[in-house]
Amino acid sequence: MEKNKPNQNKKNKKQYLLWTILILLTITATIVLALVINKNNQESEEKNVPYTQLLSDIEEDKIEKIEMTVGSTSIKIKYKDIEEEKTAIIPSTQAFIELIHKKIDEEGKSIELNEKSESVLANLSDKIFSIIPTLMMVALFVLILKMQGLGDKGKIYDGKENKTDIKFDDVAGLKEEKQELIEIVDFLKNPESFQKMGAKIPKGVLLCGKPGTGKTLIAKAIAGEANVPFISMSGSEFIEMFAGLGASRVRSLFSKAKKMAPCIVFIDEIDAIGARRTNASGAESENNQTLNQLLVEMDGFESNETVIVLAATNRPEMLDKALLRPGRFDRRITIAPPDLRGREEILKIHSKEKKFADNLSLKSIAEDTAGFTGAELANTLNEAAIIATINKHNVIEKQDLEEAVKKVTVGLQKTSRVVSEKDKKLTAYHEAGHAIVSKFLATSMEVKEISIIPRGVAGGYTMYKTNEDKFFASKTELEEKLISLLGGRAAEKIALDDISTGASNDIEVATKIAKDMVTIYGMSDKIGPISLNNEQQQPYEMQMFGQNIEDLIGEEVKRLIDIAYEKAQKILKSNMQILHAVAQTLIEKEVISTEEFDKFFE
Ligand code: ADP
Ligand code: ZN
Repeated sequence: MEKNKPNQNKKNKKQYLLWTILILLTITATIVLALVINKNNQESEEKNVPYTQLLSDIEEDKIEKIEMTVGSTSIKIKYKDIEEEKTAIIPSTQAFIELIHKKIDEEGKSIELNEKSESVLANLSDKIFSIIPTLMMVALFVLILKMQGLGDKGKIYDGKENKTDIKFDDVAGLKEEKQELIEIVDFLKNPESFQKMGAKIPKGVLLCGKPGTGKTLIAKAIAGEANVPFISMSGSEFIEMFAGLGASRVRSLFSKAKKMAPCIVFIDEIDAIGARRTNASGAESENNQTLNQLLVEMDGFESNETVIVLAATNRPEMLDKALLRPGRFDRRITIAPPDLRGREEILKIHSKEKKFADNLSLKSIAEDTAGFTGAELANTLNEAAIIATINKHNVIEKQDLEEAVKKVTVGLQKTSRVVSEKDKKLTAYHEAGHAIVSKFLATSMEVKEISIIPRGVAGGYTMYKTNEDKFFASKTELEEKLISLLGGRAAEKIALDDISTGASNDIEVATKIAKDMVTIYGMSDKIGPISLNNEQQQPYEMQMFGQNIEDLIGEEVKRLIDIAYEKAQKILKSNMQILHAVAQTLIEKEVISTEEFDKFFE
């Protein structure tokens, strides 16, 4: 997502330039138009003779000469007693000519009638002058079309497209996912044989997973393996600035894809356009238009068109159901953060050009980085190399790597930030609280390090050993997680008899967990195993559980939090001596290791 930024900026600049030109053009056109009107007005005041006046002047024989141009209702009149030539507009040339002839022949009027074939030169300047506004309007129109990507080539808003040389081998782990996707590669390489067999290939595949899990990478690898173009666009690029733009961008993206078929179209962050449709107006309805266009395009493919659309999202539950119907994104592949072996493999790929100390194995790094995504692992290795260089090491050493892991986990170490004594004390008790409470919880991970050195926005941190890959959590585990999260706040309250804003993140996380326990995991006895996720459900679906269900959810969430907070305080109250000792040591040393921490409990 980050990587798209420069390109988008360029596009925005182009857009601004176009708009500036457009506005300038409009202003010029208006001025010219005003001038023309003004000129005509002046003419009509001074030179133009009204038709009825002209007729009576003819009757009174005041006219010497009339000049007409074939096909024009504008005539020139020379009066007998006026030097200046006048003009007049006549309703019909043929009728007027007949009238004049009648006047001359039958009434003996002496009018000289000149019928000229169209004189281009004479009228040219006038013509050009009157044509300019029209031309400008046309130019304006073309510009608008172009800006909307409707112009012939739609160059401006086509997705970024390129051939990639990324192969499946560059994607570590994800064995089953690759196996599922290899079918698409085969299809792109050899569509005819699939069609002959009447085999149905998915048009759209939804890749679900956290940012950095390799969704873009694997999509590129499909294109690389099949050796077809990779056209990509981010959902957020579709919803920009001007109404109607999103839909036309979708249109031009797909028209380009069809021309380049066989190819891969990759839509990152599809939730930005594919979120559930609403009846709203404004930005929302703009969104709906874009989504509708996407649906139209997906349906518009012929089965023999070899365009495969891959879309990535971290929030599949947000997507409009229509997107997931057969013939659209009817296949879903979930890409989870890598497990221990996956992490080791990813580390292997990203450590190819890096040198490590002998006592450092990729396996041990993998063990220390549970929960990291592929992007975070790649980032960690890169950070480690930078830190090793700064530390003037010849190879990446254990210490460099540990620093890098911390840096990626909790943000940049900010040793330079001056911390007041009061803040230090508060943080020390807060972190000591987390650590001590965890010690008394059966399911809690072992404390790896406690620190009151600020990192990123956090004033301090308690790091746990997380070398176990887990996919499920039990109710007890979650309840204890709440207790350890609230241990920080509890310690502040008990030891300092005051509470701080430093616990806000803990409280946020705890509340989210408690809410998920009640509404998603069915862990509340009062409510039972019912899904009440109101982000996912329509209001009426919630209503089927009665008017008071929302109150009940709130009550249950609050109960879980209250119990956890009580427990945390109870644990700390019966270990006040340890709390003071740990906090005091933290204030002195700033960092406490596992071994040092364990000593407090001997
Ligand atoms: P997403 O699209 O899911 O946000 P990306 O595909 O952009 O994630 O991944 C970002 C980077 O992380 C990749 O360019 C790659 O360097 C690294 N990465 C992620 N997953 C893997 C993997 N399975 N194997 C190797 N590298 C990976
Ligand atoms: Zn905390």
